[in-house]
Amino acid sequence: MASLLDPRRTIRELEELRALTGDEHGAQRVAFTPTWLEARAWLRRRFDGLPVEMHDDAAGNFWATLEGESDRALVIGGHIDSVPNGGWLDGCLGTLAGVEVLRRVAAQHGGRPPVTVRVVDWADEEGARFGKSLFGSSACSGSLDRDEARRLVDKQGIALPAALRAVGIDFDRVTDSHRELATAAAYQELHIEQGPVLLDLDLPLGAVLGTFGVERHAITFRGQAAHSGSTPMNRRRDAFLAAARMGQEIYPIAAQAGGVCTIGSCTTKPGIVTSVVEECRITLDQRHLDPAALAGMLAAARAAADRFAAEGRVGVAWERLWQIEPLPFHPALIALCDEAIRETCGVSHRLPSGPLHDAAEMARAGVPTVMMFVQSLHGISHNKIEDTRREHLEQAVAAFDRLADKVVAWIGRGNRP
Ligand SMILES: [Zn+2]
Repeated sequence: MASLLDPRRTIRELEELRALTGDEHGAQRVAFTPTWLEARAWLRRRFDGLPVEMHDDAAGNFWATLEGESDRALVIGGHIDSVPNGGWLDGCLGTLAGVEVLRRVAAQHGGRPPVTVRVVDWADEEGARFGKSLFGSSACSGSLDRDEARRLVDKQGIALPAALRAVGIDFDRVTDSHRELATAAAYQELHIEQGPVLLDLDLPLGAVLGTFGVERHAITFRGQAAHSGSTPMNRRRDAFLAAARMGQEIYPIAAQAGGVCTIGSCTTKPGIVTSVVEECRITLDQRHLDPAALAGMLAAARAAADRFAAEGRVGVAWERLWQIEPLPFHPALIALCDEAIRETCGVSHRLPSGPLHDAAEMARAGVPTVMMFVQSLHGISHNKIEDTRREHLEQAVAAFDRLADKVVAWIGRGNRP
């Protein structure tokens, strides 16, 4: 099997794509632009000589299908679109690793594997032009808010529906993409980590547990403005004091739950040097992979805010700014991913993903899903300096292919261990 797979070919293709669609500032494959269309045309040619059916779906996602004995399908995803001045691996590593896996599967099974294997290249994962990430995969999963998407405009004032029309996509039909998932039995995606966790552990690869849920709130404490000279300390109703105590309290709350909490902003009124603070507004961002733990962190923060408000004789009001539920990946597939990584490089590590990915949309749609992360040098992405060691890229393609082999067998057993 190893001889059928050629991870170095994937690296050569990534370099070819970089030369074709990048410049001295980095990758320039912004979705729905001429450069992106060129990248897509180049991608289609990667399947030359393979017995695959290819088409773009209603949302502009590209699908290549190697039909198997069963129509139950392993879907392997990635995104060839980039941010402006992007890195050479973000997104396209996943798509091209998928191509290489499909080549190996086709060769090993004489063009007809036991289950169907599909590569999908999602449209506009980055949302660089319209500010809306995961366009193609959310249209496919069914979670796309069409009324919100219809109103999006780019810097030139072009609306998303018009930009889509220019590349042959009918905005009113984009959610028809959902029918592609009718036979999806599992989804796997390889991506560069975009953070420092694997780098700090000195590990090439990790199995991703899911994407964090987020609770984002504004908390406003209201006390009383009073002269800083004439008001004794025991008579003050200091809104800043209550907020400041929250700043300390989120550390034990995060530590106890094993999540992260951030107070990212703090504004005071009247905001002058000679007055006790009447009103203090802070923002709180809480993230966790486990819904109960996330809810627990929020409840703990609310209880603390109430306590500090009561003790300081100030009022407190909460306003939810944004929220998304955690999207955990499939336990059996995480175990297979771990196994594939250990067989390839001896040691694996499980980690959550802070950023969202197309895989989160597949998990949300109910498709058993897993992701594999490869170490990111500098822990940096969305930048032309984004990079990964060559040997880590080769290990990534090899481990990802092992995972595909295991998932094909898992699907063949009716998604049973
Ligand atoms: Zn990406």
